Amino acid sequence: MSAPAPSTSISAAPRILIAGAGPAAQALVSQLERARFSGTITLLSNRDDAPEELLELAALPKVSVRFGQPASFIDPDNRRVTTADGMEFSYDQLVIATGSAPVASPVEGANRCLSYSTIDDASRIGEAVKEITRELGRRPLGILVGTGAAAGQAEAVLRARGVRPIRTTVRPASVVASISGLAASGIVFEDGSSMNGDLVVLAEERVPRDGLAASAGLRTAPNGGIVISQDFRTSVPGVWAIGDAAVFDGVRLGLLVAAASAAGACATQLMTAASAGQQVQEAA
Ligand SMILES: Cc1cc2nc3c(=O)[nH]c(=O)nc-3n(C[C@H](O)[C@H](O)[C@H](O)COP(=O)(O)OP(=O)(O)OC[C@H]3O[C@@H](n4cnc5c(N)ncnc54)[C@H](O)[C@@H]3O)c2cc1C
Repeated sequence: MSAPAPSTSISAAPRILIAGAGPAAQALVSQLERARFSGTITLLSNRDDAPEELLELAALPKVSVRFGQPASFIDPDNRRVTTADGMEFSYDQLVIATGSAPVASPVEGANRCLSYSTIDDASRIGEAVKEITRELGRRPLGILVGTGAAAGQAEAVLRARGVRPIRTTVRPASVVASISGLAASGIVFEDGSSMNGDLVVLAEERVPRDGLAASAGLRTAPNGGIVISQDFRTSVPGVWAIGDAAVFDGVRLGLLVAAASAAGACATQLMTAASAGQQVQEAA
C-alpha cells in the first residue's frame, strides 16, 4: 500500500492521477510530456495486460503505470483514490478516463464468442477468422449480434476478412458451442429459435463508464456520462474527465480523434492548474 499522504494542499511537484489507461489517458500523458509537465503522472489501469503503448509511457521518467489496479473509490475532500486492492493514491489533479462499457450484462457463454468491443478487437477478429477459414477450407458464415455503430463497424470488419455476416439485433439468451466445444458457432433466443454459423461476434452498444465518478458525487448525465464543462472540469474541484466517459452539453465525446483533442486541451488546463498551485505554495 502506498504511504498515504492525504492533503488538500498542493505538493511541490504536482501529482496528476489518471483513472483509466485507454487511448484518452495515453493521449493525455503524451500531451503533458510534450508540454514538459514537471510533476508526476500515475495511471491506474484495471487491466492486467500491458500493451506496448502503455509500456512506452511507463518508461518515461515521471510516469508510472499501475496495472490491474481499478480505481474503486474517490475521496475528493482529501484528494485521494483507493483501488480495488486497497492501495491509496493521493493527487493534486485527478483525471477520469474510464471510457465506456457494454450496456447489458454478458450473454451466457459470451466468452466463447468473438467480441467487437474495443478498437483493438478488429485485429483479434482478423486473426481468429484466418484460423477458422483455414480449418473449414471455405468462407465462414458469421453470426453478428448488435445494434448501432459498433455492429455496423463489426460487419465491415467481418466482410473485409472474408466472412459472410448474418446480423441480428435481437439479443440471444445463450450461445451454442461448436463441435470442438471451444468457440461459439450459433445462438439461441429466448423463444427457443436459433441461428447457426461458423462463428459468433458480439458487438453490443456501450455506455460511458461513470460509476466511479457518480459514487464520489460527481454530476453525471441522465443517459450516462460524467458531466464536464468546456474545459473538461467535472462538478468537483480538482477532478477532470476526458474520452468516452465524459459528456459535454449532453453529447458523448467518443472517437479517438475527439479523445486525442480532448486530452490536448485538458493537458493545457492541467498545466495552468498545476502552475497556479505552485504559485500559491510559493506565496505561502
Ligand atoms: C468497437 C469499437 C470500435 C471503434 N472504432 C473506432 C474507429 O474506427 N475510429 C475511432 O476514432 N474510434 C473508434 N472507436 C471509439 C474509440 O475506441 C474510443 O473513442 C476510445 O477508445 C475512447 O478512449 P477512452 O480512453 O476514453 O476509453 P476506453 O478505450 O474505453 O479506455 C478506458 C480504459 O480505462 C479502463 N478502466 C475502466 N474503468 C477503470 C477503473 N475504475 N480503473 C482503472 N481503469 C479503468 C478500461 O479498462 C479501459 O482500458 C471504437 C470503439 C469501439 C467500442
